Amino acid sequence: MTASSPASVQDEKINWVASLPFIGVHLMCLFVFVTGARPVDVAVCVGLYVLRMWGITAGFHRYFSHRAYQAGRGFQFFIALVGTLAMQKGPLWWAAHHRHHHRYSDQEQDIHSPLQKGFWWSHTGWILCDKYGETRYEHIKDFARFPELVWLNKLHVLPGVLLAAALYLLGGFSMLVWGFFVSTTLLYHGTFTINSLSHVFGSRRYKTTDTSRNNWLLALITLGEGWHNNHHYYQNTANQGWFWWEVDLSYYSLKVLSWVGLVSKLRTPSEQVKNVYLKYTPEERAALNAPFFSSWSAPLAARRKAAGQTVKAAEEKVREALAAAADSLPSPQEPQGLLKP
Ligand SMILES: [Zn+2]
Ligand SMILES: [Zn+2]
Repeated sequence: MTASSPASVQDEKINWVASLPFIGVHLMCLFVFVTGARPVDVAVCVGLYVLRMWGITAGFHRYFSHRAYQAGRGFQFFIALVGTLAMQKGPLWWAAHHRHHHRYSDQEQDIHSPLQKGFWWSHTGWILCDKYGETRYEHIKDFARFPELVWLNKLHVLPGVLLAAALYLLGGFSMLVWGFFVSTTLLYHGTFTINSLSHVFGSRRYKTTDTSRNNWLLALITLGEGWHNNHHYYQNTANQGWFWWEVDLSYYSLKVLSWVGLVSKLRTPSEQVKNVYLKYTPEERAALNAPFFSSWSAPLAARRKAAGQTVKAAEEKVREALAAAADSLPSPQEPQGLLKP
């Protein structure tokens, strides 16, 4: 490919050949109609879903992407390994792309914004094209200095294949189908809802420069990630459910792990951060929860325009808040020597 070819356009085409393993994992689920559903197989399916979802949420997301708590080098590798078993590529690839998402959420550069490119693109399309296949090491330099993480990131398929082999040896073909293929497919789509549905369905408590929403059902499916508006408002906290009714199983597990010393320094939001929404006017709250666009069938140009306007309005609010904060600061001393000619 020459430098002058429209690489960015071509690369966003779905690479069906490279996507065959992803499609194959889905198709293998159909064997449940042959194997039936032994209780032990279904239990392994659920157990491995919960364990690996934990690896994604508490590990890839809260630890590697946001550094929301601290862990020793051994336990750091353990959570990276558990997350890698979910077959969503390696920890450095995952976290680097996620950091990029926060930097540009729902703007044109956002690689998986449902508002920019529609539901299916945000849910799976962006993963199936070549353009975003490489690890963006420039966004994850802090963890790329650990050789064992770079190694795991490169050999990310291996742990999952070994898991599949172990399930087959332990419980036969039906345990392979349920424990690996069904569980992994559910994990894919459970995780992907956070990129797709949680930017569309749910309520917005905080003003953010995107359309992130809080959704209790997605929070249950993803062990706490559904409190996505909280998360986009203040992203580096170990908890994403900030009030007692916002169930956040990943955070509860991190709390228990902190009691036994495996993790430490869990970051949580201050009362001031949590309660800032109480200062919003009723009109501001209503505007926050207005539907972003009336229908998925809205023309792309209209959706992009609406997204741009909302982002601009939110940016304006941030600028106003910064200006108000700057007004209340004492004015700096003028350097005397520079004032006189
Ligand atoms: Zn998001
Ligand atoms: Zn995040």
